[in-house]
Amino acid sequence: MDKPINVFWTLNLRELEQKLQKNGFDVYLADSAADAKDIVLNEILPALTPKTVSWGGSGTLAATGLYEYLRDSEEYDSLDTWDKSLSNEDKYELRRQAMLVDCFFAGTNAITEDGHLVNLDMIGNRVGAIAFGPRNVVILVGRNKLVPDVGRAMERIKEYVAPVNAMRLDMKTPCVKTGYCMDCESPQRICNVWTITEKSFPVGRIKVVLINEDMGL
Ligand code: SF4
Repeated sequence: MDKPINVFWTLNLRELEQKLQKNGFDVYLADSAADAKDIVLNEILPALTPKTVSWGGSGTLAATGLYEYLRDSEEYDSLDTWDKSLSNEDKYELRRQAMLVDCFFAGTNAITEDGHLVNLDMIGNRVGAIAFGPRNVVILVGRNKLVPDVGRAMERIKEYVAPVNAMRLDMKTPCVKTGYCMDCESPQRICNVWTITEKSFPVGRIKVVLINEDMGL
C-alpha cells in the first residue's frame, strides 16, 4: 500500500467528520495545509462573505499561510491581534473587539474521537470567541490533535501543549525549566480557562477543517 500513514489518517478523519457533523459542526477534509488554505479561501469565505475577520493564537493558522493572507487582504477588515508592534493595552482592546467579528479563526488544543473540542487559554479571548460572539468560527485542526476522550485531551494539553507553549512564548513559568506542569502560581501562568465545545450552537456556526497533516502543537 502506498502512503499507509495517510490512509490511516484519512480513515480516522472520515469517522471523526461524521461525529462532528452529528454535533452540529460543518466539516471540511483537507489533504494538506495548502489544501486547507484553498478550502477556506474558495469555499468557506465566499459562502460567509464576512466583512470583519480576526483570530486567536494558532500555530496551525500561521502554518497554512492564512494569517498573512487575511491580514494583508483588502477584502476584509482584519483585526490583527498578533501585531507585535501594538502595546499590550492596544492588543487587549483589539482582542475585545475581535469578539464581535463576522468570522473568527482559531486552532484547537485537542479534538476527541466523539467530536468535542478541548481548549485551555491564558487570556480567554480565543475560547471566549469560540463559545460566543463572532457570527462564524473556523477551526483549523491537524490530525495530531485527535485523542480518544476528554481525559486524554486534558492530559495532552497539560503534559505537552502548555509547557511547550510556555517555552515558545518565553514565559517565566516553572514548566519552562522542568519540562512538565507544576500547576504554578506564576503571574505568567498560561493555563487559566478550560473549554469543552461539545456541539456547535447554532448548528453550523463552527466550521472545522480537518487537515491530514501534523500541524501545530
Ligand atoms: S500551570 Fe504553570 S507550570 Fe503548568 S503548564 Fe501551565 S504555565 Fe506551565
